Amino acid sequence: MMKLNAINLSQDLIRIPSYSGVNPQVLEFLFTHLKNLGFACDILEFDGSNSYKVNNLHAVFNPKNSSKILYFAGHTDVVNEGNKASWTHDPFAAKIVDGKLFGRGAADMKCAIACFISAVAEFLEMHPNPDFGIGFLITNDEEADGINGTAKVLEWMKNSGRKISHCLVGEPTNPEKFGEMIKIGRRGSIGFKIKIIGKQGHVAYPNIALNPITILISLLKILKDHRLDEGTKFFDPSNLEITSISSQNLGGNVIPNEAEAAFNVRFNDLHSAQSILDLVKYACEKTIGFGAKYELTHRTSGESFLSDPKFLAEIVVKASEKITGKKPVLSTTGGTSDARFIKDYAEVVEIGLVNKTAHKIDEFSEISEIEQLQKTYLEILRKF
Ligand SMILES: [Zn+2]
Repeated sequence: MMKLNAINLSQDLIRIPSYSGVNPQVLEFLFTHLKNLGFACDILEFDGSNSYKVNNLHAVFNPKNSSKILYFAGHTDVVNEGNKASWTHDPFAAKIVDGKLFGRGAADMKCAIACFISAVAEFLEMHPNPDFGIGFLITNDEEADGINGTAKVLEWMKNSGRKISHCLVGEPTNPEKFGEMIKIGRRGSIGFKIKIIGKQGHVAYPNIALNPITILISLLKILKDHRLDEGTKFFDPSNLEITSISSQNLGGNVIPNEAEAAFNVRFNDLHSAQSILDLVKYACEKTIGFGAKYELTHRTSGESFLSDPKFLAEIVVKASEKITGKKPVLSTTGGTSDARFIKDYAEVVEIGLVNKTAHKIDEFSEISEIEQLQKTYLEILRKF
């Protein structure tokens, strides 16, 4: 079996620009390597549901054996590099300078995919017949809609009787250094826009006008002062953050007709998007009276979830500690990830590189940390 080096694989992957949607080249690259390792591979293309076409890769080794199958999930798609001229090193050249590998996707999350393939290759060399299955669920649509990606592959697996019992997600989970943090859940997110419609008038005659700004301020104060919860074992307290307040600027002697605000709620597993929406609606009904009207719109980016830390989380913590010498924190912070789909099928733990340069100009990963991640994945496979 050929030796697959995590650094070389990372460079090869970064050199294939792969934006969200269909990118046969990047998935065929993985397909070829995994097939050589003995995996049964499928490229799955999904279309429809008001989204663009996406291709995904499913690969599985030794699936006949038991219901114990460890999957690695991740995405090959990258966000746009922005202005190429602003990059110190070409975003798709995968240059190594001063111990850092530069390129779009270096942190989020091509190097993690490379590490897992390299770890699996090394593991299978030592244990050609493991007593558990190993799978890959790679989508090329995590950074955009996420409609025809991981969620659809999981459905396809279920419908075709393919099992998944445990799953590692390779998203970058560490704020500063590899080994600080693994994730076992994520907070949910819902954004709101509220418009209050009052009655325009002269500031000298407020009794015959209705100032929407006054109403908006009271409403926002009530929402902001309301403690949603005290936090839970693995979650920080839920939080509402006001992001904008505006009104028509008609001059110093005019009460405007309308005022608007936007706010976002990051909520833990004591709430759902619906319960937060109900609460906001209730506050609106109670606060906005006396002839004023309001328009409330909302958008849910994701529900909160927690994958109860069990067998896999314990192995991951121990493996990471063995390689880095420090115990990682179990966390639920950060934005949403595809782990929110997987948690309905398997115990899911997220462990990857450092996220501080993700999506930025001059994205990079430390070579030493890529090597540590590869060793950690190998250790997880050994202990599994
Ligand atoms: Zn990502």
